[in-house]
Amino acid sequence: MTDCLFCKIAAGTIPVTPIFEDDRVIAFADINPQAPTHFLVIPREHFADVTQVPAELLGHLLHAAARVAETQLPHGHRIAINTGPDGGQTVQHVHLHVLGGRPMGWPPG
Ligand code: C5P
Repeated sequence: MTDCLFCKIAAGTIPVTPIFEDDRVIAFADINPQAPTHFLVIPREHFADVTQVPAELLGHLLHAAARVAETQLPHGHRIAINTGPDGGQTVQHVHLHVLGGRPMGWPPG
């Protein structure tokens, strides 16, 4: 999608420093971190939210997030997918938040 911020990041039009990338996904630091470590994992292909993502790609996204978290966050982490207005989604290209580096509160806000 031409007007999608994360499509531009995935295409390299907006540069980021990848934490991890392959042919289907890219992980990069969140511009407004909510924890000492906060990165996003996105698919290169555009899907508006998690309800639209095919199962195999969703598994790959989660696997990539877990692999990077495993190396960067040895004391644990939280993976979140905000979806829709009530879920607090602000960018309409599906993304996994991976947060860590401090104890996470529960319930989330
Ligand atoms: O779940 P939500 O849609 O609110 O998350 C979008 C995330 O994208 C935010 O955490 C925001 O900081 C991040 N972002 C970013 N780089 C941008 C614009 C937004 O990392 N250029």
